[in-house]
Amino acid sequence: MTTYDFSLGHQFINGQQVRGRGPVLERANPATGLKLLDVDTADLEQVDLAVQAAAEAFKTWSKLTPGERSDHLLAFARELEKRADLIAEVETAQTGKTIRMSTEFDVPGSIDNVNFFAGAARNLQGLAAGDYAGNTTSMIRREAIGVVGSISPWNYPLQMAAWKVLPAIAAGNTIVLKPSELTPGTSVLFAQTAKDAGLPDGVINIVVGDGPNVGAPLVRHKQVKMTSFTGSTAVGLKIMSMAAETGTRVHLELGGKAPFVVFDDADIEAAAHGAVAGSTINSGQDCTAATRAYVHTSVFEKFTSRVAELMDAMVVGDPTDPDTDMGSMISQAHLQKVSSMVERAKEDGARVLAGGQQVSGAGYFYRPTLIVGATQDSEIVQQEVFGPVLVALPFDSDEEAIELANDTPYGLAASAWTKNVDRAMRASAEIQAGCVWINEHILIVSDMPHGGCKASGMGKDMSQYSFDEYTNVKHVMISHDPAAHRQWQDTV
Ligand code: NAD
Repeated sequence: MTTYDFSLGHQFINGQQVRGRGPVLERANPATGLKLLDVDTADLEQVDLAVQAAAEAFKTWSKLTPGERSDHLLAFARELEKRADLIAEVETAQTGKTIRMSTEFDVPGSIDNVNFFAGAARNLQGLAAGDYAGNTTSMIRREAIGVVGSISPWNYPLQMAAWKVLPAIAAGNTIVLKPSELTPGTSVLFAQTAKDAGLPDGVINIVVGDGPNVGAPLVRHKQVKMTSFTGSTAVGLKIMSMAAETGTRVHLELGGKAPFVVFDDADIEAAAHGAVAGSTINSGQDCTAATRAYVHTSVFEKFTSRVAELMDAMVVGDPTDPDTDMGSMISQAHLQKVSSMVERAKEDGARVLAGGQQVSGAGYFYRPTLIVGATQDSEIVQQEVFGPVLVALPFDSDEEAIELANDTPYGLAASAWTKNVDRAMRASAEIQAGCVWINEHILIVSDMPHGGCKASGMGKDMSQYSFDEYTNVKHVMISHDPAAHRQWQDTV
């Protein structure tokens, strides 16, 4: 499948690619259903070795100047550019996403992230300076935390590795990343590329394995000072309680159920295209994907028929073909989960206007699907499907639309489609989400924060805001005139 030799092993510990000593997992190519490769996993001792390597590297990495760290990251970005084609190929082979997406979105997006943090590393800011108590100067130090343990999902393996690793190491931390056991390849390549670009050993380490055997010991490790997790809400809550055992910090990027609100004055053609792109991106396996379209009754029919038409026209199949619009789902089990949720929605009275079925043949393909007639409290509207499934429901007033949009446990992303600036501002203020797009749904940039509220988690990936997760803020107060403060000191 690729020119890269994963038989050397999927662990990357202290600058070396090594084979894991835990169980071997067989991984299928999701687009063919055929065996892709064996994935070796780490044992407990290797998790410990990775943490020790990160702790050792922290002693010097955290002492580099921001400029020196920035130089390393710039070199890393250049090295990634040279391997862009190989990395894209591996990303597509392990996930089943289209090569078009890997090449035009995942790889350049990740390189942009490295470049962004090369600059951001030199701009760690504090909010205080000056005299706040008479004859003093206050300053803020933003200090690295130590070893960060990070756990990532399978849907955007490369980008998730970048989103976790870059802010952590730009701020002077070192990291042990556990990618999903389904898709470890590009995380290993990412770490190897960093080493080849001159990044010191131990700054980025990768351990591969399942959650209970490798993820949990990493979170619980005494030398791990923070856990940064991206994945499902259910596992995120477990991570939180594990981190509570050692009292360490957590950053959680969890599930989503993004609403897509179409007001009656919206450009319906633009909204229909936005809804199809937003709900089928990465085969719908995207935490910010459009999942619930709330559409004003007066334009409901026009919107849904156009969305169905666009979905029916999509080419679903071989992800290595540049003309393919949508690739496969990640696994047989996940395909089954998506398909079962659609079947249950139908049993509950919903109607399928597009898709609603698997694609026959090898590989785990599911057609882009539009559902109408579901109720707000039904499973398909309330639960994360994580597949190319959009449910459309009508509304009559702006108040109702916003109430429905907020009526799930999640709060990651949302969009509102309108030409009316008052409506746009109201929707952006009142919809509970970490991101509200207006007349757009999905665009993400390294300079802007990504992260949710409610059951979608806490904290931010990307942008300067991510440094709030990955640094300790320290106040240093210097007295210019200790004698002047003596009276106050004597009083207390
Ligand atoms: P998941 O929660 O099943 O797994 C995520 C990671 O956690 C994997 O590496 C897994 O091995 C690990 N894990 C599982 N159980 C664990 C345990 N007990 N202890 C420690 N680690 C454990 O999620 P997934 O199926 O890989 O990914 C899909 C989910 O990720 C969706 O819910 C999606 O919304 C979410 N997601 C969120 C964002 C975001 O930015 N908010 C981005 C991408 C994906």
